[in-house]
Amino acid sequence: MKTSNNRHDVIIVGAGMVGAAVACGLAEAGLEVAVIEQHEPQREWPAEEIDLRVSAINRGSQQLLDNLGAWSGIVRRGVQPYREMRVWDNLDMGDIHFDSAAIGEADLGHIIQNRTIVAALWDQMESIANIRLYTSTTVEKTLAGSSDISVTLESGEQLHAQLLIAADGSNSQMRDKAGIAVNIHDFHQSAVVATVTTANAHQETAWQHFLSTGPLAFLPVSSTQCSIVWSTTAEHAAGLIEMDDADFCEALAEASQQRLGEITETSARAVYPLVSKHAETYIGNRLALVGDAAHQIHPLAGQGVNLGFRDAALLIEVIVDARQRNRPIGSHSVLRRYERSRRGDNLVTQKSMEAINGLFSNDTPGVRQLRNLGLTIADRIAPAKAFFMRQALGMGGEVPKLCKPRW
Ligand SMILES: Cc1cc2nc3c(=O)[nH]c(=O)nc-3n(C[C@H](O)[C@H](O)[C@H](O)COP(=O)(O)OP(=O)(O)OC[C@H]3O[C@@H](n4cnc5c(N)ncnc54)[C@H](O)[C@@H]3O)c2cc1C
Repeated sequence: MKTSNNRHDVIIVGAGMVGAAVACGLAEAGLEVAVIEQHEPQREWPAEEIDLRVSAINRGSQQLLDNLGAWSGIVRRGVQPYREMRVWDNLDMGDIHFDSAAIGEADLGHIIQNRTIVAALWDQMESIANIRLYTSTTVEKTLAGSSDISVTLESGEQLHAQLLIAADGSNSQMRDKAGIAVNIHDFHQSAVVATVTTANAHQETAWQHFLSTGPLAFLPVSSTQCSIVWSTTAEHAAGLIEMDDADFCEALAEASQQRLGEITETSARAVYPLVSKHAETYIGNRLALVGDAAHQIHPLAGQGVNLGFRDAALLIEVIVDARQRNRPIGSHSVLRRYERSRRGDNLVTQKSMEAINGLFSNDTPGVRQLRNLGLTIADRIAPAKAFFMRQALGMGGEVPKLCKPRW
């Protein structure tokens, strides 16, 4: 049974991967949830067609999606596990190899099309009675008061709730409407993405080559194809987009030092300018920001949405806990608990990505030697590698309950 009036416990604006996950978690716990999404997501596509937007999903996010009931729908639509990772730099002196078997894990994560995750979460949202979906519309106006927040849709319809959750992505209008400032770091790089076929098998391995212009990643996305993310200068990226397919394949094979052999086929390409952003606060009057609305990071370690899923899990946990204790879910003290738990973790990851990108883009001879020495040493220290793998798998630090197996 859908809610019959316009009063809800929570309104979520934006139902991409993160917003839809929050909606499922809160509604499963019994809250009345309204979801406002400007686009109707794609739900069906030919099995062999691979979208350009993919994400490396770590174990913590997999666990969350499983606990929300969406993982089986994701697997049914198609996932590609990767069991190893190889990272090297432009001098090919240092090389670091991560193997999931070394920490007793079956894999290091899965490469999944973003639309696969969204479609499975939407299936789940539609199966939950207390979620009301408002699609192909957006928010005209919001008004936060002492006991609730009201949202006016484009149609003029008004919704009321105790809390508004902004999951509307890196250019969040909800964040801007609330006057929350954002710190921005421009990498002066763009990421070119494409789906390619390589002459040699990818061996269920994620490959990352650090070039002086930025990192180039080959992520196995099907049994025979890789999704590439080539971060480089904006000018170079523009050139790569303009090239015909044959020239692009040749440039890509050369940039990857042919670790996977020749590139035999490429899809059309897309480009994303790279900046990192961090909201100065994640909370406002009856407002919480999650996912890219709160933080956007460099894609080099494939952690962006994994951090967003951790936000989602923690926010669900904090709100459900407040509800069980009969505390107002939109109160500052409840929201502050969420912000305190998540902002530090996200900031450390964001700054690490900026530092790693800066370190590898630095061609000063001394820095190069130190970097290569560091990679070589790091490759030989098993506990350090195990630590990095657990962090990357989302198994380190304060893991929200929903990102752990349910017993
Ligand atoms: C090249 C590239 C590679 C990446 N690779 C990885 C990776 O391997 N692993 C990883 O973890 N992350 C990766 N990321 C990051 C990841 O894509 C983002 O972190 C993730 O998409 C953020 O999800 P989100 O739900 O917070 O926001 P979004 O995906 O941006 O979703 C926001 C939703 O809100 C809706 N919306 C926006 N405004 C409104 C409005 N006003 N009203 C209603 N609806 C609205 C949008 O339509 C959308 O559905 C990568 C990013 C890039 C650019």
